[in-house]
Amino acid sequence: MAGNVTIDPLAWAEAVAKPEIDQVLSLKSGRIIDVRRFVRAFRYERAILLRQKLKMLVKSNKTRLVCATCGVPVYLVCSTAKRFFFRHRHEDGSCPAVTRTGFTEADIRAMKYRGNKESEAHKRIKRLVLRSVSADPRFTDVVTEQTWRASEGLTGLRRPDVSARTDSLRLAFEVQLSTTFLDVVLSRREFYRSERAALIWVLPNFHPNYRRMTDDDILLSNNSNIFVVDASTATASEAAGVFMIKCWHRKPVIDGDRIVDEWVERLVCWDEITVDVDLQTVQAFDYSSEAAQLLEQIKLEKIAKLAAQKEAAERAKVALENELRDLMFRFVLNYEDDDKHLGRYKRWVAINDRLLSHGCGLEGKYPDLMKASRLVHLVATAKAGKPVGFKYKNLVEIGHHLFHQHPDLLLAYGFMLRAFGTKSILDREDRTGRWVAKVREERSNFLSDAKYKMAEDEERLLAFLSQGASRKLANDNRNQDGGRAAA
Ligand SMILES: [Zn+2]
Repeated sequence: MAGNVTIDPLAWAEAVAKPEIDQVLSLKSGRIIDVRRFVRAFRYERAILLRQKLKMLVKSNKTRLVCATCGVPVYLVCSTAKRFFFRHRHEDGSCPAVTRTGFTEADIRAMKYRGNKESEAHKRIKRLVLRSVSADPRFTDVVTEQTWRASEGLTGLRRPDVSARTDSLRLAFEVQLSTTFLDVVLSRREFYRSERAALIWVLPNFHPNYRRMTDDDILLSNNSNIFVVDASTATASEAAGVFMIKCWHRKPVIDGDRIVDEWVERLVCWDEITVDVDLQTVQAFDYSSEAAQLLEQIKLEKIAKLAAQKEAAERAKVALENELRDLMFRFVLNYEDDDKHLGRYKRWVAINDRLLSHGCGLEGKYPDLMKASRLVHLVATAKAGKPVGFKYKNLVEIGHHLFHQHPDLLLAYGFMLRAFGTKSILDREDRTGRWVAKVREERSNFLSDAKYKMAEDEERLLAFLSQGASRKLANDNRNQDGGRAAA
């Protein structure tokens, strides 16, 4: 029992410290692959299945990977310490990488399989399986050690420890006492698959923290279910008149944002077991479906969490901007501290710094408070539909003023009047029609003449203060008059 290393199926696989073959060539992609990095990309459970797959491919002459040095097909091997490396399919001394010197410890243990086959322990478990299956009247033709010949031109024959039939299925039970060659496990699986029969490996005992290579080969290729027959399960079968068997399986559970395994041990009756002949799986619990479902759940929760975080950040940003906008309006409109001129400018610079950090402050070493105040007044005016902070009687007078003194603000003024629904006030005030005439005359120059264009930083500040109303696209109704909002 000494020296067994058992790996968490979800842990990352590892290569041996110094693999003889350190690079392999993929015949599919033509790429050279670093063995240590390659192995590390798989979780242990996947590496075990990959090892089985590569072995099958090599056996059927469908090579995927070859030694990068000599081009001989290779397959993945697992050491007794459950670390992986590649081995040549055959070795004739022409490659400097030597992977087949004598027998490994695992090989030797595997060879003991044949001796074990007829051991007392083996016979005892076989009898327990026989008792268990015979207890259930749904099983017929229950026999031991009967030769099973391949039915359709396939070579070979097998002699399962126990075989039986249900009305829909042929079953072979194999008692698994000691380490078996992977070859043996794989070729039996293929044999029964082609016979359209199910192979059930039966162990005398199992513990998840002490798993041999063969246990992992059987467990992981069987959707993480493994079966035990012992005296207590045989007695339970006879008592119930139903085939009962002990199932150990992995059970995925969510731990934070990942999946971890729990191990479940339970007595199951035959009705709880699902057989898939094509996949050669016999299971009481569908580990892979459950794991996939939990992964999906984790993914959805992650997405929902990110969306909530984004929304909260967005809300916080809007709240901060509203507060800053209010601050700027209060600062300009509630002008009370005339006499402390320098203090007021300092306060403005502090507010402008905050505006700058939101991407909408005025640039330059001495940001112009008068300019900024004018923008605040213009927004307040357009909103109120009457002059705020301007020494004029009404909106149309401000319009004329802008035409002569601040043509760069003219378009934005028009957009805001429209957006805030106060343009009709200006229209009523233009009794002489002088304003309409002026606009008509200048209309073709609004977009081309540079004097109607605001400085970029002022434009951004005005857009911030007016919450976008100063910009052309702030209001959808504008298309009706071809974008001539200033008119
Ligand atoms: Zn080689």
